[in-house]
Amino acid sequence: MAASFGPPKLDNFILTEKLGSGTYATVYKAYRKKDSREVVAVKVVGKKSLNKASMENLLTEIEILKTVRHPHIVHLKDFQWDSENIYLIMEWCSGGDLSRFIRSRRLLSERVARSFLQHLASALQFLHEKNISHLDLKPQNILLSNGVLKLADFGFAQYMSPWDEKHVLRGSPLYMAPEMVCRRQYDARVDLWSVGVILYEALFGRPPFASRSYAELEEKIRSARPIELPPGARVTHDCRDLLLKLLERDPESRISFTDFFRHSFVDLEHMPSAESLGKATQLVMKAVQKDQSGDHSAALSFYCSSLEHFVPAIHYETDCQRKEALRLKVKQYVSRAEELKALLKSDNKIIFEEAKSARDILKEMSRDHLRLFAALEVASAAVAKEEQGDESVDTLDLYQQSLGELLLVLAAEPQGRRRELLHGEIKSLMNRAEYLKEQLKMRETQTEASMDGEPLSESVRSSCCVQ
Ligand code: ADP
Ligand code: MG
Repeated sequence: MAASFGPPKLDNFILTEKLGSGTYATVYKAYRKKDSREVVAVKVVGKKSLNKASMENLLTEIEILKTVRHPHIVHLKDFQWDSENIYLIMEWCSGGDLSRFIRSRRLLSERVARSFLQHLASALQFLHEKNISHLDLKPQNILLSNGVLKLADFGFAQYMSPWDEKHVLRGSPLYMAPEMVCRRQYDARVDLWSVGVILYEALFGRPPFASRSYAELEEKIRSARPIELPPGARVTHDCRDLLLKLLERDPESRISFTDFFRHSFVDLEHMPSAESLGKATQLVMKAVQKDQSGDHSAALSFYCSSLEHFVPAIHYETDCQRKEALRLKVKQYVSRAEELKALLKSDNKIIFEEAKSARDILKEMSRDHLRLFAALEVASAAVAKEEQGDESVDTLDLYQQSLGELLLVLAAEPQGRRRELLHGEIKSLMNRAEYLKEQLKMRETQTEASMDGEPLSESVRSSCCVQ
């Protein structure tokens, strides 16, 4: 193969160091000859790894991929070919691939993992609308460039069966959906499984089917056991929920693309983007209006919703001065929100009391209904935590846990007094959970505004401030 004799020759480019190699190709860093000296990555795909019929389709596909432009997809600038290889000329990503990134940090915080997941989801949403699937999603095929994640190596997998002529599996089955390995019949939904594996690995440092031997791996893939998170895994309710819905062995039961993009852990709506600032500004204008008319509760709510867009807007802004100006503004909104919160706190006390007596009656009526009683106990624990001033994610998780159960019980509860009380209880717990979510958001915003954000914003910041 050309790779073993150093980089191949290519018109208009000087190929230099090897950036990596995968299942089908070797990728080199390269410079465009002549004036610009633009840095690119050149992917060299040996024609041997393609069957003849695929060749033409592949070339058509590359033409299509050239037109794909998205902030979280590696840009394919051009392509060439000769008798031996196809050369894909791509945007160079200086941060290497996600597998190296995870290995160097052992595991990622849920915050960083979530932000990466949003990048990945927005790329997948874009491709999904164009009817393009990836079919080979894994950390090695996800690249990093200035703290931003970019999807690479897609659109080709369909021309390269994961099984070679001798029916041996190519690539690593660690990221492949079970139906791909076991039934050899699969569709776009395998991508959702792989997203689950990638998120799992980012959070826990190893993929769910990590094994010591091939036999062990095969057993794990073929088994019907539902996927479980590692013992003692500490992730939020939303995160766990998404992981388990993605890592559903049966593609029919797996979360759908639409539900994935809408899932509260993915929350594409609040992902840092060019629209974040506009959304934030609109909401803050409403907040100010409500504040002026004396509607404190609505004002607080609008301030909080606006802050949910201001934080991503700060992340998105790359100009240092504008970033700083935004931070200052946000600090002001946060302090006003704090004042409003204090005003509302006294009202809250009364609401707490009322809700408590209703809950006690409901508990009395539920002694014969174990599931309901247990869920109410969880709710009480959440309220108690909150009353003690614990406004943490753990408290929110308890609220969400109890709500999940109570809603199920409600669905089966016959008409009557208990149903009415249960209904009221669910409404009141939902309000508490909403309120707590807003508090958490506000605190997160404060941290952001006071400039000690997380590593991701750190890297974006340093990339714009240091030079
Ligand atoms: P394959 O189809 O053989 O899997 P990939 O496109 O996944 O090839 O590239 C193999 C490896 O090369 C990646 O895992 C990554 O480490 C590196 N690489 C690929 N493209 C780029 C790029 N544009 N910038 C930087 N590194 C890259
Ligand atoms: Mg690859």
